[in-house]
Amino acid sequence: MEQTNSKQTSERPVAIVTGGGKGIGAACCRALHEAGFTVGIHYRESRKPAEQVLSEIGSDGFLLQADLEDTAAIDAMVRQIKEQAGRVDVLVNNAGISINEPMLTMPITVFDAQRAVVRGAWYLTKRILRVLMFRRGSGRIINISSVVGHTGNAGQIPYTMEKAALDAMTKSLAKELAGRGILVNSVAPGFIDTEMTRALPEDIRNAIVANVPLGRMGGPEEVAEVVVFLAARGSYINGTVIHVNGGMYGG
Ligand code: NAD
Repeated sequence: MEQTNSKQTSERPVAIVTGGGKGIGAACCRALHEAGFTVGIHYRESRKPAEQVLSEIGSDGFLLQADLEDTAAIDAMVRQIKEQAGRVDVLVNNAGISINEPMLTMPITVFDAQRAVVRGAWYLTKRILRVLMFRRGSGRIINISSVVGHTGNAGQIPYTMEKAALDAMTKSLAKELAGRGILVNSVAPGFIDTEMTRALPEDIRNAIVANVPLGRMGGPEEVAEVVVFLAARGSYINGTVIHVNGGMYGG
């Protein structure tokens, strides 16, 4: 459990971003901070990048460490949030992995690893709701899914299943929580320039960009600005998926 920061005392609303040290998560942390939130920057093992984001945010941020496959670690993280921030207004379930391999050769361990990510998002959401959000009668939950959960993608079957499951959670949870004033939505990015996509071979990256009508990858900050809109405004948007993909797919 992370113990580096003292209790946040300001009355700023609090946003928690999983996988907040890198890529889309880091952009969300910066943008939410700019929009007036205190930000809990969650990471698994990338402490240095998370510290870098914290150094940009300053005293309006705090670090959270947990492997989201580990329910005891999630419980400890929620206790830390309660002690350190005392409230959660926005949860961004951003952490994710993408393992690419055709179905015929993919080992079952890949399926299990991919499933563990959505299980972690489900459990963290459940714990934050129970401990910090449900009784407040307001809040926003934003799940970062993916265009491929809607279009499908060769070589990414467990990933596309996980992302479709996240969107299904969005739709069902929105119905469960609407009466409580808590809004739940997904943001589904297309092809965004982060470590995840930089790991792909160049010819595959080029082939994907060739299918993007805007002719380029998106920037993490272009996803983050939609997350901020859902976190701070969008008061009549609930149970939906907002696509951010340069025209690849319109929903
Ligand atoms: P990234 O690899 O830079 O970041 C993913 C983060 O998730 C990392 O910080 C990683 O440590 C964290 N994470 C993964 N498994 C974890 C676990 N078990 N416990 C704790 N943390 C864990 O990738 P990114 O591109 O910034 O992706 C962010 C999200 O956006 C992911 O859910 C990804 O699937 C989604 N997405 C990305 C793209 C894209 O093109 N980059 C497109 C669509 C969706």
